[in-house]
Amino acid sequence: MGEILAKNQDQSKKLNIVDICRMLRDGQVKNIVAMCGPGINTPPEMDDFEYSGEGFYGLVEPEYDIENVEDLLSAATFDEDPRPFFVVLSEIFDRRVRKADVTFVHKFLRILDKMGILKRVYTSNVDSGERRAGLKPSRVVEAYGTLRTSHCTKCNKKHDFQWLKRFMRKGNFDTDKGDVTKPKCKKCGSSVRPDVVLFGDRLSDGFYRHREADMRKCDLLIMLGTRLCTAPFCELAKMTERGVPRLYVNNVEAAYDADADEYGLHRKQILQRRTDVVVTKYRIDYTVGDVCAILKWTKRVRKVKEKDVDDLEDE
Ligand SMILES: [Zn+2]
Repeated sequence: MGEILAKNQDQSKKLNIVDICRMLRDGQVKNIVAMCGPGINTPPEMDDFEYSGEGFYGLVEPEYDIENVEDLLSAATFDEDPRPFFVVLSEIFDRRVRKADVTFVHKFLRILDKMGILKRVYTSNVDSGERRAGLKPSRVVEAYGTLRTSHCTKCNKKHDFQWLKRFMRKGNFDTDKGDVTKPKCKKCGSSVRPDVVLFGDRLSDGFYRHREADMRKCDLLIMLGTRLCTAPFCELAKMTERGVPRLYVNNVEAAYDADADEYGLHRKQILQRRTDVVVTKYRIDYTVGDVCAILKWTKRVRKVKEKDVDDLEDE
């Protein structure tokens, strides 16, 4: 990746967002890897609820005997009783999944794809936003799975998004209104589980299959709306080759806590490299909007057509 930096000489100078725009404009980057987190969908004021999980916990406690947020969204809890999961899901389903917008940020990724310079998108989101912006299944690693499909925990029968929509619409998920509805397989009547990764699960196969080769080739890493707080997803950020620019765009700073050293993602390290550009002052779509304005891409991005979740096909 040295040739990229050679074209952006003056090694003492820290890169800025204009340098990143120049690299994009001049065709200096050809294998962009993007990491997406909940911030690309979420208005900033909703972040705390999403990130902390405390809001979710309050929904199910004390009706269910669950000790903490991780247990609440764990595979073990789901196996024992799937209802707390659906109580939580019902809280965000309409707003974040069924009617979730395909944002300017998703469409920007599609433009990079159309230009042939997007290697892969790794997303922690489960709402198919990247796919709905037109990215092919092979281009997107849905590291935490997807709500687009579900499966029976006994006979493995696949259930589509229509099934989940119907279930969420017809079921009772309010613990104050009597028994919460249990999901039932259309074939055998057993419990049905959306294909999302819960605490205690491995991330999706694609994550492990692609990450090493992708990060070896990556010549620009763009981190969008992810706080880099959960391993192994966040570890992608430290897998770039030496000297590869890393652009961090979020409305909040990357996570920082004592445990971060455990997986080598100290926030200071993220901020320290000369080739790191960190923009956390604005909404993510504003920053991406600025980049597109500089590159004169705004019209093209806006023209990207959205797809419906029901029209997406898996490869
Ligand atoms: Zn079944």
